[in-house]
Amino acid sequence: MSTVADDVQARELRHVLQTYRRQPVTFVRGDGVRLFDVEGREYLDLLSGIGVASLGHAHPGLAKAIADQARTLLHTSNLFFHPLQGQVAERLATLSGLPRAFFCNSGTEAVEACLKFARRYWHTRGEPRAEFIALEGSFHGRTFGALPFEPLVPGVRFVPSNDPAALLAAVSRKTAAIILEGIQGEGGVRPLTPAFAAAVNEASVKSGALVISDEIQCGLGRTGHAFYYSALGIKPHLVSLGKALGGGVPIGAALISEEVASTISFGDHGSTYGGNLLACRAALLFLTELVDGGLLAHIGRMGRFFDTRLKALAGKHSIVKEVRGAGLIWGLELTCDAAPVVPAALARRVIVNRTAETVVRLLPPLVITEAEAEEALGRLDAALADVSAGHSAGGTHA
Ligand code: PLP
Repeated sequence: MSTVADDVQARELRHVLQTYRRQPVTFVRGDGVRLFDVEGREYLDLLSGIGVASLGHAHPGLAKAIADQARTLLHTSNLFFHPLQGQVAERLATLSGLPRAFFCNSGTEAVEACLKFARRYWHTRGEPRAEFIALEGSFHGRTFGALPFEPLVPGVRFVPSNDPAALLAAVSRKTAAIILEGIQGEGGVRPLTPAFAAAVNEASVKSGALVISDEIQCGLGRTGHAFYYSALGIKPHLVSLGKALGGGVPIGAALISEEVASTISFGDHGSTYGGNLLACRAALLFLTELVDGGLLAHIGRMGRFFDTRLKALAGKHSIVKEVRGAGLIWGLELTCDAAPVVPAALARRVIVNRTAETVVRLLPPLVITEAEAEEALGRLDAALADVSAGHSAGGTHA
């Protein structure tokens, strides 16, 4: 007998390009940190659509703002002014200390904009530097230009993460910019060390290289800090943002220092949708919740809660070798491939994800409460026990 879920999956198999290996679940509704599948089963979401549903699912304030904006005006293009783009840019400037913003529609586009602006900066200064330095294990997007893709855009050099000497040796007067994530998200939730952060600043001062901080995953409150570069003491000239900013409405942004911004001219870059009224309305609502709604302080408290609870889980399950993270971004490094944990967790009705082969990654909605986290981590505890039992029995979990 065919179910609705079977129909959904069969139609996709026929007509959607098969670039995603999806879990066999069809979600139709959400409420805060809970998701409901087509059969009405409830799940606790510790992933928030990879760090996007920052305010949880079906947030009433966000839903109202979007609906109100849809009834008023959605899009006019960047040929005209509208009242919201400047407001979002102003809020981001206050939060980051970088005075200007360029809006786009995704994280990858924000990275692309930063790379392009860095090249433009050096071109305008009559010293066309073309080399970028990126860190091994980093992830900055999936277009041809965003790193680290093979074949790479020429002029990209990779240095090992957290190796100050390697960075200082690699940087030169040919380096346009150093690009980094304060916490490598896709790379397995790996924070940069303070010593490496100091080397980034030193390398930048020594060579003049710009610093691009990719805060798409670890920024906008995710770690309990507005931006993780400030926790590390890194001084970026460019910052890329995405994910959490729209709470689910696609929006990306590049934040730019005045020094770099002054080298950019009309027509140097653009986007048809970038920073339209719908996206900006969502971003304003998110930033208001983050700063005025007390969300940042909440994430700090929840970070301490997760730290304690996850370390207790590690103490209990010998397959968990290390716990890394801050605020509401966490990685459990396993002694084995983390792939079986994802379906085991799904069977226990909790959503997590596997990254960098051996890491179970948690990126819950920023609004998650202690009671919800307790319940979700209880389910994860059971899933880890299931996987451990499978291992000791020599079984496999598909
Ligand atoms: N940069 C980082 C640090 C990311 O985590 C991601 C997405 O996971 C991206 C860039 C790409 O963002 P998007 O998928 O919105 O293009």
